[in-house]
Amino acid sequence: MHRVISSSTFSRRSWLAAAGLSAFHLAAQNKPLTARDVINRIKQNVGVPWEEKTVDTFKAGNPDTTVRGIATSFGGTLDVLERAAAAGRNLIIVHEPTFYNHEDRTDGLSGAVFERKQKVIRDNDLVVWRFHDHWHRRRPDGILTGLVDALGWDKYQDPSSPRLFVLPPAPLRAVARSLRDRLSIRTMRVIGNPELQISRIAVSPGYTNGPAVIRWLERDNVDALIIGECREWEGIEYARDAMTAGHKKSLIILGHVPSEESGMKECARWLKTFIPEVPIDFLPSREPFWAP
Ligand SMILES: [Zn+2]
Repeated sequence: MHRVISSSTFSRRSWLAAAGLSAFHLAAQNKPLTARDVINRIKQNVGVPWEEKTVDTFKAGNPDTTVRGIATSFGGTLDVLERAAAAGRNLIIVHEPTFYNHEDRTDGLSGAVFERKQKVIRDNDLVVWRFHDHWHRRRPDGILTGLVDALGWDKYQDPSSPRLFVLPPAPLRAVARSLRDRLSIRTMRVIGNPELQISRIAVSPGYTNGPAVIRWLERDNVDALIIGECREWEGIEYARDAMTAGHKKSLIILGHVPSEESGMKECARWLKTFIPEVPIDFLPSREPFWAP
């Protein structure tokens, strides 16, 4: 079996030493680094087998473009693409779609907004690549790692079940407020009695489907579940029914972007451990909502 170098086993320093930094720089001077080269290096370092069926593919631009800089972000929004271009980062690695659907299909898309996005990509030689499935599959999950780091919750994490956390007991209201403040969220939402004492918390960033929300909330060792989003007529209504039925349960909905964004900050940190040739930055996509 082909062994891959993972950042969990090699520090940046030991990796550079193993790669031979001077030879590396020499090679970098002779041959420009293309977007395809960067993605191949990600595949070699991610530490899980690369699946053929995946949304982790190029979404826009020419993969043979020379990379001047890399930006990671939650999504390929027009705002993120314009900020990346202005900062001289022409490879944008995003967790979620660029063209408003899971497969990033562009058939059926037209109009001034779509055309402006295409023009920004063309005019600035941008290449957009999605890093979703394998960043989640990595162990530990790259998105969860970033969120745990942003919350400072690593000391509460269950090593055998990394989505479970045991915190000092506190009222739901206080835990929710600290999440809001740590992640700077304007529009998070909570279901459950604000005075409910919670301690055992399950964390599931991003989209969590209805059956998964139900499974988490039915576990005896879970007082509260934190998610990014769920359909409002699925898991949300189950949580409401659990509360009505007198169960001491709660559901905290951070919003998809705040729940996963820090996972792409973690991605930028990780990329720097094996891509020394170009600058790499995390660009926040930022929460889309505000509340009146
Ligand atoms: Zn995700």
